[in-house]
Amino acid sequence: MRKLAAWIVCLTAALGMLYWWYAVDGRMPADADFPLDIAELRRLSGSLPGDLPREVRYEKVTAFAFPGAMIAAGDGWATQEMPVYAYQLIYPDRTGMIDSAMTRDLAKPDFMVPYFDSAAQGRVAAALERASFILITHEHSDHSGGVLQHPRLRALLPALRLTRVQMDHPHYMEPAAAPEGSFAGYRPLSYERAAAIAPGVVAVAAPGHTPGSQMVYVRLADGRELLFLGDVSWKHGNIERQRERPRFVTDWLIGEDRHAVFGQLRTLHQLAQREPAIRQVPGHDGDVVAELTAAGFLTPGFIRIGNQ
Ligand SMILES: [Zn+2]
Repeated sequence: MRKLAAWIVCLTAALGMLYWWYAVDGRMPADADFPLDIAELRRLSGSLPGDLPREVRYEKVTAFAFPGAMIAAGDGWATQEMPVYAYQLIYPDRTGMIDSAMTRDLAKPDFMVPYFDSAAQGRVAAALERASFILITHEHSDHSGGVLQHPRLRALLPALRLTRVQMDHPHYMEPAAAPEGSFAGYRPLSYERAAAIAPGVVAVAAPGHTPGSQMVYVRLADGRELLFLGDVSWKHGNIERQRERPRFVTDWLIGEDRHAVFGQLRTLHQLAQREPAIRQVPGHDGDVVAELTAAGFLTPGFIRIGNQ
């Protein structure tokens, strides 16, 4: 009897340790770091000739329902909404896009995908065809799917700036996939740390969540600044509390470089304190988008510009 009790205690302790390691432990590694040179981003944002974007608009296409415990290590299991957005940069005579959300066949309604707005997805698909550039923050299908599954993907290629690293990791895009041969002759974007994409728009390599993850710095014509984080962090709380996703998500579900993401969370946390005027836009945070909408940094609903 005493032996059985000892076994139960040992087993409980082992299970507790496993739960702590995979679901709770979110300690920031002491040496986690990510260099981010804001002066360089500002310089690059003014390096291409032409007018800066005057506003950023967005469409919410779908939303996941994730347990909080998947979003930040150690949080509770109550579900939180993870809205999926695409963004449209408005220039005087043209538009650009950041991310493409996902198509209906990629967002099959189930208990984790309770919401899909087909009309919004239609507006994103139309805006992609009119855009003069399309940046995708990372490979995952809730960001790349609207492009990869677009019925006229070939017509998007002149504007599409998929990076070399993103193109080299198609399995990270699954279940989104482009039809065989779609990218024949396509020349992806290739850069080291940061690259000017268009006036006011700079891509910043941030590998970690996926190999091809990048952030997008945007400076508007009136001087206001935004930093689109992709899924470096899903929610503002990840940065505010410097709390990564738990290991059962990063190691088992995503295959993420936790150490790299921790460095990015630390740097973004410091940036928020040092440069609060640069408004950070996490990948799936409806509260932040609502706040930035109220403050006039973001505007709901895509529009057409000129004859485009
Ligand atoms: Zn995402």
